[in-house]
This record gives sequence, structure tokens and C-alpha cells, in this order.
Amino acid sequence: MNLADVKTLESLLKPAGFDFKKSLGQNFLINEDVCPAMAKAACDENTGVLEIGPGVGVLTVELSKVAKRVVAIELDDRLRKILPITLADCNNVEVIFGDAMKLDLSAIIAEKFGDCQRVCVCANLPYYITSPIIMMLLESKLPIDNVTVMVQKEAAERLCAKVGSRESGAITVAVNYYSKPEILFEVDRFSFMPPPKVDSSVIKLNVRQEPPIKLNNEKAFFSLIKAAFAQRRKTLVNTVSNTTGISKDDLRNALEEIGISPTVRSEQLTLEQLAALSNKLNT
Ligand code: SAM
Repeated sequence: MNLADVKTLESLLKPAGFDFKKSLGQNFLINEDVCPAMAKAACDENTGVLEIGPGVGVLTVELSKVAKRVVAIELDDRLRKILPITLADCNNVEVIFGDAMKLDLSAIIAEKFGDCQRVCVCANLPYYITSPIIMMLLESKLPIDNVTVMVQKEAAERLCAKVGSRESGAITVAVNYYSKPEILFEVDRFSFMPPPKVDSSVIKLNVRQEPPIKLNNEKAFFSLIKAAFAQRRKTLVNTVSNTTGISKDDLRNALEEIGISPTVRSEQLTLEQLAALSNKLNT
């Protein structure tokens, strides 16, 4: 069964009375080249794969061919009728119905992937929760090797931007702290049913074993980052003092001590410079 074929997809969905729910980010892939490429980029025969949102299983089937085991988490109960049919031949796949944001992924990984050499996350993510899912996966410090996911093109550019470039934001800093991000390839909007309003990209976040910078206080660093990027057009001194209450003098002094102009904007600082500032403010 070719699940990327529109007629096949319709023959599965129509009899089940399935209509696409925008609120669940349901844009199903209908480009047969995409899923094999994603599976190949994410995993190998020793990998356990956590998939978020299998839909009818178009990516799940390809992951099943390459990986040792696949656990797919799907929120939409209506797919309970369809997935057992589409995944009937995949004996290394298990589907768990539930909300990926609420399930204990650490426990699932420990229970299901104990015999796998590495674990990865691979998904065509529901766009309404792209950033929360990515941040949850990285912040919870799950034992994963990489996160290989389809996201909106603009989100991909923000997530994978260089820290210190115009495109960078608070999420860019967090992603670069926890991983080495890369954009793998673009996928146009007509590769989906229904087509979304924008094109997409597949990105791979190669999770770091160790952070690239040394921090005195990780929590304080991320509070500073959140404040620093809250008002992008303002200088770092203005936006951080407005949002945290740290005085402008303290901020100017800290910047001067680490050799940075007090009129700098947050997006101009590298990861190392942001770390140096945070460490100076939290000795
Ligand atoms: N993997 C399929 C494909 O590529 O065609 C479907 C991808 S579709 C963009 C996103 C999928 O995520 C849908 O099946 C949707 O029901 C599911 N989903 C949405 N929110 C979810 C959540 N919080 N947890 C798990 N699955 C979710």
C-alpha cells in the first residue's frame, strides 16, 4: 500500500469519515520521496525511533524499514481504526495513543528501546506545537541522538540560524545550546494533503553530549536569554532591564567588562558572549 498516494489515502480516510483537523496540525504527506529520505537521515538498524503524530503511518512505514523499533505517539483517536490496517505488515512498530506533550517520554524510551544502541525522534510535526515539542524534547534531556523533523520553512530558518545573526532568537540560542542544528532539505506545500499555506523544511538537531559553553547558572542563563530577545528592536541593555529589573548600569558594566559595546543588540551576540554576560551577572 502506497500511503503517499492520494487515491490510496482517500480510500482509507473516506470510509472512516475522517476529515482533516486543522487544530491538530493534520497535513498528511503525499510526496513519496520525502519519508524514505527522512528515515535514512534519522536512523539505522540499531536505532529506536520515537515518532510524534504518525497520521495514517506514511513515515512510520519507512522508519519501520530502516530502524530497529518504532514507537509512534498519536493524539487523534479516530486513527485507531486506520493505523492497524496501514501498519499491519510492520512488526517492529507500536502505536501509543496519547498527547506527546503529556506522556512520560523518558519512561517510554527506557521501556521500549532498552536493546537499541541509540534513540532518535523523527516526525512530520504538527505545526501548532513545533516549538513547544522541540523545546520539551531538548530541555528534558532525554537520551536521544537526534531530532529529525519536518517544520515550517520559516521555523527551520529560525531554529537553525547562527547565534549572532539577524535571524536568531531565544529559541535559536536554546537549540544551539542543546544541539548542532542543520537544515537537510526543503519540501514544498503541495507535498501535503491538504496543502498548508507555506513550504516546509526537514531539519536535524544533532543532540550534544555536553553543552558548548560553561555556565555558572543554567536557569539564570535562560531567563536572561528570554529577556534579551523579548523586544528585538531594542538594545540588550534596554530590553533586559525592562523585563528583569536588572539595572541599566549593572548591565552596561557587565558588558564593558567582557569587552562588548553597551549599545549592542541581543541578536548580535554569539553563544559564548551571551554565556560570558550571564556568568558575569551571576558570579
Ligand atoms: N506523520 C503523518 C504524515 O507525515 O503524513 C502526519 C503528520 S501531521 C503534520 C501531524 C500529526 O500529529 C497528526 O496525525 C496529528 O493528529 C498528530 N498530533 C497532533 N498533536 C499531537 C500531539 N500533541 N501528540 C501526538 N500527536 C499529535
